[in-house]
Amino acid sequence: MSQDAKYKVNIYQTPKPKKVPKAVSGELKGAASAKAIARMKKESVDCPVVKREVAFLVCFACPSFLRRVTGTVDCAGGQGPPPEWLLG
Ligand code: SF4
Repeated sequence: MSQDAKYKVNIYQTPKPKKVPKAVSGELKGAASAKAIARMKKESVDCPVVKREVAFLVCFACPSFLRRVTGTVDCAGGQGPPPEWLLG
């Protein structure tokens, strides 16, 4: 059963990409093509839970991430990303 999104969060291209911790980028290797990962590295969301800009790849690995629908993240609005993932 698909979970309902509490928030619909806009994804945007950022001129100053946020750093993605190795723990997150390492897990994604093999899950998506290098080209797709390179593109997603330039994307951010304004997270309504931690109330700051978060790298899209961190959002993607976050426990509250449900799905990406084109330019939007469906977010369950529960636990946000761990503080050690929020770099830069
Ligand atoms: S999935 Fe996580 S990082 Fe993304 S918007 Fe929701 S709480 Fe924030």
